[in-house]
Amino acid sequence: MTGVSTTAAGDPQSEQTALLERLQADGVTGLWIVWHDYAARACAKWMPTGEFAGALRRGGSFCHANLNFSTDDQQVPEPHFAADAGDFFAVPDLATYAQLPYRPGIGRVLSYLRDEGGAVWEGCPRGRLDAVTAALAAHGLSAQAAYEPEFSLFTRDASGAITPADHATMYSVERIDRHHDLLTRIDAALQAQGVRVIQIGSEYGPGQLEINLHHESPRKAADDIVTFRETVKALAREDGLIASFMPKPFAHLAGSGLHVHLSLWDADGTEPRNDGDAPHGFSPQLSAFMAGILAHAPALTGVGAPSVNSYKRLLPGSWAPAHVAWAFGNRAALVRVPSAHGSRRFEFRAGDHTGNPYLFLTALLAAGLDGIERGLDPGDPASGDLGHLPLAELQARGVGLLPRTVDAALDAVEADDVVMRALGPVCGPEMLRVRRAEAARYHTQVSAWERDVYFERV
Ligand code: GLU
Ligand code: MG
Repeated sequence: MTGVSTTAAGDPQSEQTALLERLQADGVTGLWIVWHDYAARACAKWMPTGEFAGALRRGGSFCHANLNFSTDDQQVPEPHFAADAGDFFAVPDLATYAQLPYRPGIGRVLSYLRDEGGAVWEGCPRGRLDAVTAALAAHGLSAQAAYEPEFSLFTRDASGAITPADHATMYSVERIDRHHDLLTRIDAALQAQGVRVIQIGSEYGPGQLEINLHHESPRKAADDIVTFRETVKALAREDGLIASFMPKPFAHLAGSGLHVHLSLWDADGTEPRNDGDAPHGFSPQLSAFMAGILAHAPALTGVGAPSVNSYKRLLPGSWAPAHVAWAFGNRAALVRVPSAHGSRRFEFRAGDHTGNPYLFLTALLAAGLDGIERGLDPGDPASGDLGHLPLAELQARGVGLLPRTVDAALDAVEADDVVMRALGPVCGPEMLRVRRAEAARYHTQVSAWERDVYFERV
């Protein structure tokens, strides 16, 4: 069961009391307060029964300094938030409550990061997403978003060697059959937490799966992907498997993306605003929104794919995009409109699981909104398999490349005023600080490839 029915909507005290009663009725003995950081890690505190009332009111405290740590828990060399930077509070959004079906007795809530006075802090990724959603509403619009997560299952043997959990092929019955127990538990656990699965398929890498989630409000879509990853990882671990969401775990195998589908609706989310008589059957709003996303493509890629490893996935000819283009039904394009028939919506394909899903959607919506405000035009759709066209032809067609390295992508984020404004004065600069520190450490590593190429030849 998910969510709390509130008897007095908007009255925080009654809502807290209702949830306290619900926690007791559900036999919850521990409450996890979860949020998501700038290195794209789900963070939490576990609150025991005696602390529930205070936890719902005040949340759990965390140190600001933790926000200047990278994926592997290294503090950045020049932190903005150092040891003396004090605390913030992750305060539950009570409507997100769910019991963790795979951890009996545990309830979990997602949260807003608030300052000591109780206001949503500018450094809260969920708060930034709410702010851009409100800006869209001021134009009489809302968006629906659906994340499309890919990941691969691996085993690790006693020597530490990592091997794909199966070698079944794309769309095969074999893979979903081999893992049917795990997939059944994943589906049930997600549904029980209010995450709507619409289909599960074998992807084209060994052990690779894609699970499509139903479209939701942007905030719920981001919440759902956090729930999704934690659930899939936990259930795979119980079977002795590793579910890896790494963009490109092996150079010769398929990468895992986090595509996101977007559509526009009226402000209350009841009437779609996607189809119309703009060229190619778009509504003028969706056309301009998509054009805004293309105009800000380098920065959006930096926010959605901010790790060193991301750029080993975004290669021409890989079905992960490498070019700035939109097209109908074309998996080589950055922006894919699934079909030239039926209702319009589109998919942005550059993101992966190393990005913060709230910040990624914040940046996408801000870019789309900029397109609407400036009345941008997406131009004509691209054609052909862009990943296999010669550079000269791409140049002749005016098709640009996405950033080729994380450094270029992060520079593009910093240079993009629209995206930086939407991320706000904390999330933008601090996400860049964390990611740049991670990239800088990578640049000092010496890889096996370098030894293979240079060791004896030089
Ligand atoms: N795995 C590909 C990617 O990284 C996408 C494959 C597909 O089109 O679903 O983005
Ligand atoms: Mg896929």
